Amino acid sequence: MRLILLGPPGAGKGTQAAKIVEKYAIPHISTGDIFRTNISQGTELGKQAQGYMDKGLLVPDELTCGLVADRLSQEDCKVGFMLDGFPRNLFQAISLDEILKDTDTKLTKVVNIEVDKELLVARAVGRRICKSCGATFHVEFNPPKEDGVCDVCHGELYQRADDNEETVSKRIQVYLDETKPLVDYYSKQGIVASINGDQQIDKVFKDIELSLGSEK
Ligand code: ADP
Ligand code: AMP
Repeated sequence: MRLILLGPPGAGKGTQAAKIVEKYAIPHISTGDIFRTNISQGTELGKQAQGYMDKGLLVPDELTCGLVADRLSQEDCKVGFMLDGFPRNLFQAISLDEILKDTDTKLTKVVNIEVDKELLVARAVGRRICKSCGATFHVEFNPPKEDGVCDVCHGELYQRADDNEETVSKRIQVYLDETKPLVDYYSKQGIVASINGDQQIDKVFKDIELSLGSEK
C-alpha cells in the first residue's frame, strides 16, 4: 500500500496516520516530523529548515525532495509507505512521480482529508504532542486524561512553535495556494479518496478504511 495523506494543516493527517500505519503495517513518513527531529538535534538541515517553518513557509524543494527520495529507498518502504505532508506542491509531486517510476511502483491512493477553513486554526492552536512517542492530542477536542501528560506513554506534552494563530493562518494560505491544486493533479489519475474530516476521529478512520477497501 503506497499512500499520500493530503489536507490542510490541522485536518487530522497525523492523527489518522497513526491509525493507518498500525492497521496496514507501513512506515509513516512525515516530512514535518523529519524537519522537527533535525531541528531538535541541531543538524545543518534543521538549521536551514527552521526559518521557513517558523514563518509558515514551505522549506525549499532542494532540501525536501532529496530527503524523501532517500527515505523511500530504505528497506522498510519495500512493503509500501504512507506520506504525510509530502508532496506539498507540483514540483514535489513530479519529483515523487520520478521516484516511483524509477522503482516501477505506483501510488495506491491519495487520501484527501477535508475540513472547513474556520475549524483549522482552533485545531492547530489547541494541538499538543507527546515529546516521547509523538502521539497527538487536542486541549479541547481530544484531551489527554491528565493535563499535559500523554495517555499512551506518560510522556510530556508540548505545543509546536508554529502552532500559533499567525503562523497557522499563513500555513493555511500556503496550503490553498500550493498544495490544494494537487487534489486535481491526483484526481486526474483517478486515485483520490476525499474524506470528511469534520467528524469524530474514529468515524474519520472508518471512512478511510472503507475508501481503501481491500487494497494491498
Ligand atoms: P495535521 O497532521 O493534519 O496537521 P493533526 O492530526 O495533528 O493534523 O490534528 C490537528 C489537531 O486536531 C490535533 O490537536 C488533533 O488532536 C485534533 N484532531 C484531529 N482529528 C480531529 C477530529 N476528527 N476532530 C477533532 N479534533 C481532531
Ligand atoms: P507539518 O508537520 O506537515 O505541519 O509541517 C510543518 C512545516 O514543515 C511546514 O509548515 C513547512 O514549513 C515544513 N514542511 C513539512 N513538509 C514539507 C514539504 N513537503 N515541503 C516543504 N516544507 C515542508
